[in-house]
Amino acid sequence: MQGFFQRFNGLFSTRAEKQDTVLHYPEEAEITDDIFHEYSIIIGSLFTYFNDLPEELKLRFVKRVYQFKANKKFHFVGLEDKEDIAILVSASAIQVTFGLKNYMMSYFKDIYVLADAYQMDNEEELYIGHVAPDGIYLSFKHFLYGYSHNKKNDNVNVAVHEMAHALLYNNFFAQYSGTDSHFRLNYEKFSSSTGPILANVIANRRSYLRSYAFSNLHEFWAVSVEAFFENPAGLKMNMPELYEALCRVLNQDPITQSKILKSEP
Ligand SMILES: [Zn+2]
Repeated sequence: MQGFFQRFNGLFSTRAEKQDTVLHYPEEAEITDDIFHEYSIIIGSLFTYFNDLPEELKLRFVKRVYQFKANKKFHFVGLEDKEDIAILVSASAIQVTFGLKNYMMSYFKDIYVLADAYQMDNEEELYIGHVAPDGIYLSFKHFLYGYSHNKKNDNVNVAVHEMAHALLYNNFFAQYSGTDSHFRLNYEKFSSSTGPILANVIANRRSYLRSYAFSNLHEFWAVSVEAFFENPAGLKMNMPELYEALCRVLNQDPITQSKILKSEP
């Protein structure tokens, strides 16, 4: 595992040296009423988060999805209805980054969507999603399960989980113009303030979060973000300090209708 992360960091820093350093924030694209309507129907079929937004924020959300999708190359394995799938996967990235100014995660150019769980290299284990230097990978079957209206509030959402990993890698491993300064600053505060929470959980050997969160700090981050969006009220009630820390770092509160906390983070 150590070797893997070293290789991983090495790849990111090699890539970063080749990037230019011009700062730019992606402008939100202008879109037609037809595109807004079409995207709203597709996104609204799965995302309660989107349906709850006030009208002007729905427009911002759709513009961001449109821009995100246009800037990524989607690869599909064993799937049809590709346009809709690319819109839905983009929407999960926009949900996680909605409070941030720089939402593109521009380090990642490629997104791989597979029909079902998959194997990597020669490993026996099946994966439902992962993030690697060459892209973001998701099983679409499990993507849909994450957003299913019929399941219990089980705090499981593979797309939110992988987008949380991708956001962190984009901002801390790739030193180039695509980072978000609000996120970087507040994540550093987040990781120092979560120390006592982790210590407490390890001492008590139980937590509201599933045990996978305690594999390492990266998983703690991704599992926390999953719970934050899947059942915000549950997380706020059971781990209020963690909930507040996530609100600050992502600049949004999913319990509120308008989500975003500060308009200029
Ligand atoms: Zn993970």
